[in-house]
Amino acid sequence: MSQTEQKFKKQDLTLELLGFPKTIFKKIRECSKIAESAPKDISYLWLKVSEKNIKSNEKKQGEKLNIDVWLNVIDEAVSAGANWLVLTIHIPLDQMEEVIEMCRWAQNTYTMRVGFFLCREDISENEIRVISGLKKDLTQIFVKKKALEHFKKLKEMGLFLGIADPQEYGNKPNCEGASKLLYVDNEGSIYTCGLVSGMKNYKLGTIYEKKFQEIIKDPSLPHSVEEKIHKVNEGCDGCPSLLMKYLKK
Ligand code: SF4
Repeated sequence: MSQTEQKFKKQDLTLELLGFPKTIFKKIRECSKIAESAPKDISYLWLKVSEKNIKSNEKKQGEKLNIDVWLNVIDEAVSAGANWLVLTIHIPLDQMEEVIEMCRWAQNTYTMRVGFFLCREDISENEIRVISGLKKDLTQIFVKKKALEHFKKLKEMGLFLGIADPQEYGNKPNCEGASKLLYVDNEGSIYTCGLVSGMKNYKLGTIYEKKFQEIIKDPSLPHSVEEKIHKVNEGCDGCPSLLMKYLKK
């Protein structure tokens, strides 16, 4: 029995005592196999989260996405090699129960690291409470340089707090490259990266019509950004491929 299997067997017992149904154990075991067999083609799944894509029970294309769709997106990203989930978040976390559920799924099922880029000037006590419910060692918070001071409480609590915009705008990004990630916008469209989000010649498909593996293995799709537009701008804020390069320094 592999170490992962032993870990999940132990977890099964704990969950069983807590009254979890057996079907959940089965799903967890299936997911652990996904993580073990992942080919490691990408490292990061980067999602843009706004009111547009979370709060709904609708499943149809072009409509808001529901939690099951997002959990499947995470499963698929793991099978493509992702070990980081990074969320660019435009609305308060305490209004985003589904987002937190996704993060828990990523951390508890796959031991994924979760990074939040919080696009705002400060953070409320309610949001801090929500973040505290996640695994501290697998959670990192990023904010704009100018807002850093207003988030220092997170650091005092022992959480990782970093800068989402480490490089000045205008120069060539010092990033690991777009091929390390998949970017999904708030309508489920997949793009090469955040810099080219919304540009139709960089749209790789949607989460409804294509598997991540299919996208990664298709050489006809753009897996990098053309030199002439390859300059840091707001679209690169919170980009895991950029942040990790700076964190490694
Ligand atoms: S968003 Fe910017 S930093 Fe990230 S991969 Fe694209 S070009 Fe590089």
